[in-house]
Amino acid sequence: ATPTALLVGTGRGAQLGILIKGPEVLESTRRVEVIVLDKTGTVTQGRMALERVVTREGTLDLSSAAARSAGSSSETPDGAARHALRLAGAVEGLSEHPIAQAIASAATRVSGEVDDRESEPASAGGHAGADTSAGAVVETGADGVVVGSPQVFDFVSSPGGGVSGLVRTAHSGLSPAGALNAQRVLVGRPAWLAEQGVAFDVSAPAGAAGHARSDNPGTDLRRAFDEAESTGATAVVVAWNGAAQGVLVLRDPVKETSAQAVAELRELGLRPLLLTGDNAGAAKVAARQVGIAEEDVIAQVLPQDKVDVVARLRAEGRVVAMVGDGVNDAAALAGADLGLAMGTGTDVAIEASDITLVRGDLRSSATAIRLSRQTLRVIK
Ligand code: ADP
Ligand code: MG
Repeated sequence: ATPTALLVGTGRGAQLGILIKGPEVLESTRRVEVIVLDKTGTVTQGRMALERVVTREGTLDLSSAAARSAGSSSETPDGAARHALRLAGAVEGLSEHPIAQAIASAATRVSGEVDDRESEPASAGGHAGADTSAGAVVETGADGVVVGSPQVFDFVSSPGGGVSGLVRTAHSGLSPAGALNAQRVLVGRPAWLAEQGVAFDVSAPAGAAGHARSDNPGTDLRRAFDEAESTGATAVVVAWNGAAQGVLVLRDPVKETSAQAVAELRELGLRPLLLTGDNAGAAKVAARQVGIAEEDVIAQVLPQDKVDVVARLRAEGRVVAMVGDGVNDAAALAGADLGLAMGTGTDVAIEASDITLVRGDLRSSATAIRLSRQTLRVIK
């Protein structure tokens, strides 16, 4: 062997923000044919922004355009949507998922705006005019506006599915007996909610018929969800009282450099595949934006199944590289012939990988493979 050249190669990599675990890693770059790309945080920015909250009663638009025209939001009946966001944000505040961070930060932002509609009855499900404050410890601001963050107990996180927690808002108050009056709030994808006993494939209940005009997209949560996904957004459902109450629409743009990265990987003779736990619609839109064909998209893959996708490709005789950033990518990164972690990602992913791309720029994956091959050519 010629360790000097290998060391020069790894040293050059370090200068470019490519940390190679050991000289032996270079060898595995030579034969790589397929490169599996995690979508969220790897191909996309991994920073979701909450665009909209849809409830049967009304929609809260949080897109920057709507936020700029300050008057617009007050014209829509968004009290229910604000409440849904508050509850979802409370639970998501305990999760580190990009979806969670977007929802939690939007909830904080929105509840920071003094809004006397916050003093409406808490539950969209009814008890209009209920004296939630009678005998209860309800914090109120000077003008009677309910303040304070909801408290969350018994938080549960299901990777690839969603989160849930017992939430007590000031609205919830305390029962006459003084016992905690909290409600279980779930946020996640419909299939996971169904597993938790929450049906989502339902239109507005009969009781909401007064609002449920068919021309109002806010009245049919399923339709709002499907529409969002068809435009490449990610939608999650918030549920309480055992029923879906709202749809949260998020968007995570692809990184500016991802399309060029895919082109560079192809020039190196690699076939990029997009792998994600996200829905097929969002995956397809992201794939199109970076130049990955529809048949090379593997969507709605559970975290524990990502490693199986890699294993299957290897069983077919392919030499597989994988690029990822998340806890949910770690096993697949370790199981690939060559694992590359985004330096902007989680420690678990970095530890499971052979190479760390410090800059979190997908182009570095192409640079890493090019550099490794050049280094090996010098040796041979
Ligand atoms: P990806 O592979 O794209 O990073 P994940 O496997 O982490 O996606 O998640 C898959 C899906 O599970 C998400 O698109 C979302 O619908 C749901 N999900 C996961 N975590 C959460 C969470 N904290 N809150 C709401 N939904 C979640
Ligand atoms: Mg990810």
